[in-house]
Amino acid sequence: MTENKIGIVTDDDFASKNIPPYPRPTFLSFETPLRIKVIMDYFEKINLFADKQIIKISPRDIDESIIKLAHSTYHINSIKYLSSLGSGFLGDEVFITKDTFNLAKKALGGTIEAIESVLKKEINQSIALVRPPGHHASREKASGLCIFNNIANAILYLREILNYDKRIAIIDIDDHFGDGLVQYFYDDPSVLYFSVHEYDYLEGDIGFINELGEGEGIGKNINFPIPMGTRDDEFLEFFDILKPILKEFKPDFIIVAAGFDMYFDDAIGNCLLTSMSYYNFTNRILKIANNTCNGKLAFILEGGYSLIGLPVCVHAVIKALLKEKHERHFFENVNFLKNPKTKDDIIKIKVALKKLLSNYWISIDY
Ligand SMILES: [Zn+2]
Repeated sequence: MTENKIGIVTDDDFASKNIPPYPRPTFLSFETPLRIKVIMDYFEKINLFADKQIIKISPRDIDESIIKLAHSTYHINSIKYLSSLGSGFLGDEVFITKDTFNLAKKALGGTIEAIESVLKKEINQSIALVRPPGHHASREKASGLCIFNNIANAILYLREILNYDKRIAIIDIDDHFGDGLVQYFYDDPSVLYFSVHEYDYLEGDIGFINELGEGEGIGKNINFPIPMGTRDDEFLEFFDILKPILKEFKPDFIIVAAGFDMYFDDAIGNCLLTSMSYYNFTNRILKIANNTCNGKLAFILEGGYSLIGLPVCVHAVIKALLKEKHERHFFENVNFLKNPKTKDDIIKIKVALKKLLSNYWISIDY
């Protein structure tokens, strides 16, 4: 494959189904079909699909047995049952509509398609524009707007159905800690989970630096918690740790849990990023992927709720994959107040995390 091919995996159903039954600005109301609709409308408007390098791909229709690789029968049946009733609400901020089961199944089918088509070298990189998101869902339950854990489930599909046993790195840049995703591979040395997320330093939370994995997986779970208010010029500090570790880990595939809720206009996250951060992140991770795993890289949409920000952030990722230039949009040129403590906190975390990781990685000096 000599030419550059970027796959966009999506479906009209993501842009029209599973409408939250609550008025804005309820937390639940932000996980809406409009998230995908605004992205796809923008891509139509700028004629992105006329670019021969962009390949539009449909999600794979998967069998329910695939979901069972990552979820209990009770969980799957609960979602199916509530969807058949037409509505419902589950414990940790999850709404159900008549479409939820089928759309969540399709989101998983899209995630699998995005990863497998890169693995089979049909395309160079991919981005799955799917919803509901997945990284808070665990084996037994839906949580935080997530129904099925799309990324964990796709990896278990690779392992158990395709017999793919090579090393995989997950880089989770959603504003929130992937508390569901982390549980699947906590003791698995073949899956590296690296999460950068907004952290509540005042109250404390899970997702702190001392959660390093367990058993054979120790050192392969890395949390880089950052403070609220993190800006473009502070965000990418974690590459000082991520880059040497990925070089040493030598993944065969890199999956990005691509949440865009650190965007400054996001209704749920409290950080101050613009599309420039997502562009620069993608440039750097693509370079690492090119050097370690023949560029095998897939972005899977997680959170991100700004209907203004989503189209330009997702486009920024695609521009980096296409090796095109990117500039901030005019509405992103905001002079955010600089809090000098933010950078200090990030550096302190980086130093403390390096000290812990130096026990498990020769490339990390302390
Ligand atoms: Zn999130």
